[in-house]
Amino acid sequence: MDAPPPFECWSEGGCLYRCAPCGSTFRHSVAFWKHVAEFHRLDPADFGRLFPRPRVKKVAMRCDECGQEITFDRGKMEAHMIRRHDGMTLRQYYDKHIAKRGTF
Ligand SMILES: [Zn+2]
Ligand SMILES: [Zn+2]
Repeated sequence: MDAPPPFECWSEGGCLYRCAPCGSTFRHSVAFWKHVAEFHRLDPADFGRLFPRPRVKKVAMRCDECGQEITFDRGKMEAHMIRRHDGMTLRQYYDKHIAKRGTF
């Protein structure tokens, strides 16, 4: 069995976002939207109108808490844990499920 991915690596997710105007790529939506706000001074709605579909790679995962399929992306995972699992953090989820299991 493979060793589990380190938390820092796992929590980055497996998707890829590309910023159309400058060509930068990001592993997850949190970093991507932060870049859009700080570097291009656009909010997500405005950016989405100008440059639709910034996510160029989408990876799904199954939540071990509830079995629902969610996007393997830090922002999406955090939102899911907060809404569905009483504010569980990604760290708690990782310790409970990922660290024990050994693989994704
Ligand atoms: Zn950019
Ligand atoms: Zn869940």
